[in-house]
Amino acid sequence: MPTFVRTEKCDGCKGQDKTACMYICPHDLMKLDKDGSETGHAMKSFNQEPEQCWECYSCVKICPQNAIECRHYADIVPLGGSVQPLRGSDSIMWTIKFRNGNMKRFKFPIRTTPEGSINPYGNKPKADMSKIEDGRFFNSENGYRAGNRAELIRLK
Ligand code: SF4
Ligand code: SF4
Repeated sequence: MPTFVRTEKCDGCKGQDKTACMYICPHDLMKLDKDGSETGHAMKSFNQEPEQCWECYSCVKICPQNAIECRHYADIVPLGGSVQPLRGSDSIMWTIKFRNGNMKRFKFPIRTTPEGSINPYGNKPKADMSKIEDGRFFNSENGYRAGNRAELIRLK
């Protein structure tokens, strides 16, 4: 079930070429309607192929205006209920609204290091992007090592 945008909250990410929701969607579903010709709402984003949305919640979490919501399957979140995250720099708050009016909030930490401090390469060599066209780039160089059966997780 797809996401939808609350047009009264969306500010089009202040007219940037690529909005936060467009940037994050792994399926390229979000689109900014710059002149309003597609939706009647200029400078608001929308989900251009709702049937392709897999409800990953990435756009919902990244939207700085908290403008995106998700329609859920009725057996999980019946009509009238909602599940809405609010992401902070070190935690995420989930607000669960039940259709009888009850509301619950859950706050979880999302990282153990200060924001911006992560070392994405760790001890691995930095990728040599000049080799990006080389078909072996991802499988025979740059950090590839043969699998080690001793490292397999075995359930007893
Ligand atoms: S991320 Fe949010 S505010 Fe920005 S364009 Fe998308 S829906 Fe609008
Ligand atoms: S929920 Fe995921 S797949 Fe659906 S529009 Fe948002 S980012 Fe894209």
